[in-house]
Amino acid sequence: MAAVEIQQLTKTFGKLRALNGVDLTIQPGEMVALIGASGSGKSTLIRHVAGLLRSDAGERGGQVRVLGRTMQSGGHLSPEARRLRAEIGVVFQQFNLVHRLPLLINVVTGVLGRIPTWRGCLGLFTREEKLLAMRALKRVGMDDFATQRAGNLSGGQQQRGAIARCLVQQARIVLADEPIASLDPASARKVMQMLADINRQDGITVVVSLHQVDYAIRFCNRAIAMRDGEIVYDGATDRLTPDFLKDLYGTSREELILTGAF
Ligand code: ADP
Ligand code: MG
Repeated sequence: MAAVEIQQLTKTFGKLRALNGVDLTIQPGEMVALIGASGSGKSTLIRHVAGLLRSDAGERGGQVRVLGRTMQSGGHLSPEARRLRAEIGVVFQQFNLVHRLPLLINVVTGVLGRIPTWRGCLGLFTREEKLLAMRALKRVGMDDFATQRAGNLSGGQQQRGAIARCLVQQARIVLADEPIASLDPASARKVMQMLADINRQDGITVVVSLHQVDYAIRFCNRAIAMRDGEIVYDGATDRLTPDFLKDLYGTSREELILTGAF
């Protein structure tokens, strides 16, 4: 059974075709980079896999299957759809954590797959759940920051907290949408290393969209390159040489990085 199986996924915003018949299969245990210029459709694709967006109506919209089940989106979810959501962890560029709440509460709510609230501080969680969260924080080197408000942490520390929450949630798939876009290089490397660790050690399937193609080459074996809502390359990252990218995007890798297109 594939971790993610997408067939002919199509999403239109008004007149804009953000995704145009995307076909994609990701096997369990893969760590895949999603690359492409700004506006190419990376976030839209990730949001469909997370069940946060609904594709075009009817057959035109195609299909998204996650862990063998059809992904439903929308407000009211069936119990089965909720269970499926719980198996998918998400890490975004920003707003991963509720800033006014302590890191531990943000992380421990991964157990319930709920939005963190102050009730979490009032003993809603068992000692075991808190221990589980502390262990996850230790894994990402953030156990010393458990009682700090998430908003007081640096961007990289918050991302590591978000990864810990995925661990507590026992996610089988982690979708990370530009998790390092606003981080300095040292923090970016740490966050990518942690995604690679949970992939290798816990067997979690990781899909990570990246601006910087260099990080894709360094941390992922497979890259999916998008352009204008379509997949224009799907294969090994070691083929992403400057010349290859120049053919793909009509500009060199260095230029892509300098212009911020990646
Ligand atoms: P990426 O993540 O690769 O930068 P996105 O998936 O965010 O690209 O966007 C793909 C295209 O869809 C862009 O042209 C973007 O402007 C458009 N788009 C994304 N979300 C919306 C939305 N909610 N409403 C209208 N257009 C959108
Ligand atoms: Mg995006």
